[in-house]
Amino acid sequence: MSSPESTTVQVVVDAPRHAGLAALDYRCDRSIEPGALVRVPLGRREVAGIVWQAAQRPHTPAELRAVVQRFEMLSPLPPQWMALVEFAAGYYQRSIGEVALAALPSELRRLSAAQLAARVRRSQRAPHALAAPASAAATLTAQQSAALAAIDDAASQPRAPLLLHGVTGSGKTEVYLRASEHALARGRQVLLLVPEINLTPQLLARVVERFPSRSVVAMHSALTPAQRLQAWLRAHAGSADIVLGTRLAVFASLPRLGLIVVDEEHDASYKQQEGARYSARDLAVYRGHLERVPVVLGSATPSLETWQHARSGRYQRLPLDERIGGAVLPRVRLFDMGSLPRAPGQPPPALAPAVLDALRERTARGEQALVFLNRRGYAPVLHCPDCGWKSECPHCSAWRVFHKFDRTLRCHHCGASESVPRACPSCGNLDIQPIGRGTEKLAEQLAAALPVARIARLDADATRSRGALERTLAAVHDGEVDILVGTQMVTKGHDFRRISLVVAVNPDSALFSSDFRAAERQFALLMQAAGRAGRDAAHAGSEMWVQTWHPQHALFAALRAHDYALFAQRLLAEREAAGLPPFAHLALLRAEARDAAAAMKFLRRAAELGAALPEASGVAVYPPVPMAVARVANVERLQMLAESASRLRLQRFLAAWLPQLHALRGEVKGLARWAVDVDPLAI
Ligand code: ADP
Ligand code: ZN
Ligand code: ZN
Repeated sequence: MSSPESTTVQVVVDAPRHAGLAALDYRCDRSIEPGALVRVPLGRREVAGIVWQAAQRPHTPAELRAVVQRFEMLSPLPPQWMALVEFAAGYYQRSIGEVALAALPSELRRLSAAQLAARVRRSQRAPHALAAPASAAATLTAQQSAALAAIDDAASQPRAPLLLHGVTGSGKTEVYLRASEHALARGRQVLLLVPEINLTPQLLARVVERFPSRSVVAMHSALTPAQRLQAWLRAHAGSADIVLGTRLAVFASLPRLGLIVVDEEHDASYKQQEGARYSARDLAVYRGHLERVPVVLGSATPSLETWQHARSGRYQRLPLDERIGGAVLPRVRLFDMGSLPRAPGQPPPALAPAVLDALRERTARGEQALVFLNRRGYAPVLHCPDCGWKSECPHCSAWRVFHKFDRTLRCHHCGASESVPRACPSCGNLDIQPIGRGTEKLAEQLAAALPVARIARLDADATRSRGALERTLAAVHDGEVDILVGTQMVTKGHDFRRISLVVAVNPDSALFSSDFRAAERQFALLMQAAGRAGRDAAHAGSEMWVQTWHPQHALFAALRAHDYALFAQRLLAEREAAGLPPFAHLALLRAEARDAAAAMKFLRRAAELGAALPEASGVAVYPPVPMAVARVANVERLQMLAESASRLRLQRFLAAWLPQLHALRGEVKGLARWAVDVDPLAI
């Protein structure tokens, strides 16, 4: 039986690939274009879906269920958007529906047609355009002009992605703005990706100031669902000219896209760590290729993946070698902690006397200093000197961190928190003590050592309450803070004009980490931290002090020379010798269970199945191992690495392997979760 007057469409819904529900046929009385948002029945529910293909079948079987609703007020998603989603789904081994629906604002899936129509109308109202003239743009330096010319060139004919490699303060943002101006003049939209929007209100302000008559929308996870929908609708309708957003904005629907910029392209925040574990940076490159628009990756410390592409000629490197306005990078000085005289059994001081002197001098001159310690809390662990008790988390293989301001012991992995015991829980000793130090304690010690200095702290704890981050940043900009203490949060992107001294406190643990990317990350972090100093040529003679137990390490030699290329070269040689990215391609299979044995069984069995596949040739699968923090919230976590010198081979292997894993999942009792992470960042 078939009903001739109706037709069929294929609709994707938010269901995992293995459920067999990812693309379903539905009946409708007239054809619906691909990209249209619809509501369809699924089991007993009604869910949002996107028409992926129209009229596949010549006849419509009568038993097909019908599309319940189509949202005609919303124009269909553009074909390039669908192509991007399809690529991401394939590459990261998810269903199209999962990726597509996760990329849309949640309100789109939730609202009724009438509600959505009202929102669409509201988003069409012209945003308040300021009449003020655009802020005057500076005359570009020769290197900035060359970079801009290369970007313009890539806009007129498809070219390789561009790496804008410029030290901090070398005028990268100015180049983004100028390239945006040209794209806008061509009638195109601009997608500007930043790693963490909360840390970059400055960029948003700069964009709005430069383009007062343009519609600029922000897209990030801190927006309310209604705000996110508004921004999305304006991008989708083509009425937003510039979209400034975090990683999820890479999926913004932009019918007139003309330029993509990925600022701080090396930043780990571009990698999604849940669901489809995509890299927004990598997808941005793919999107540029797909839509034939220039992609600019900007960084002072590019990721080694990007750097290798620039060396091999796959990307074009656009150098900005000098800071603007004659500002010079700080002189980097190493302090060898091993040289400090100290009494046996006494812990070393937090800050070396020479470093304290430097802080005292700078602040006395009215200059600002930044002290960087990548560990929050007061102390990483409490212990009892009598019986050896330590503040272990009962749920995780980790210590609970002592937070003094609210007197809690908090686990940074599972979030469990309780008040600090008055006495040792195991022997009753009243004198339990903190070991080591975090930013909270460091700030306290600084305040004691430099009583006149005004000290502020910036880390995840100090910025938990609403507006706290903005207040602290404003205080620093207004000169109300002498010393800013913080975690890596302080190193990212801020244009603090008065900082002339940066101190890095014991950045040594990354030098000997089991994570092969730790040294790369630490180097980038320290170079970024150095970049916070001496941004104003008025503060000549800016300095960075690094307190380390390993002053001979090659990382510090490159840091002193501000020579990114030198250290990158060295790391790349090591990676090549070890067969690690970017010279090899990785995927991680992770498994979680209450009982480690279940997770182990799943991974072992998965390895056997994988090895038997014809696609396994040229792909190595390593034995399962516990993750660095093996137990979190009473769940044991294990992982297994698949590696290949060929990205294509690894992709083919994963595509064949994944269906087996979905089938295997049901066979292993007690398995809680499993996931594949393609191009994992942390292993
Ligand atoms: P980056 O993004 O590389 O850190 P910015 O673009 O923020 O660098 O530039 C640093 C500072 O120099 C900013 O205050 C910017 O306005 C200014 N600037 C950038 N380019 C020029 C130029 N060609 N002439 C004068 N000032 C400039
Ligand atoms: Zn005790
Ligand atoms: Zn815990």
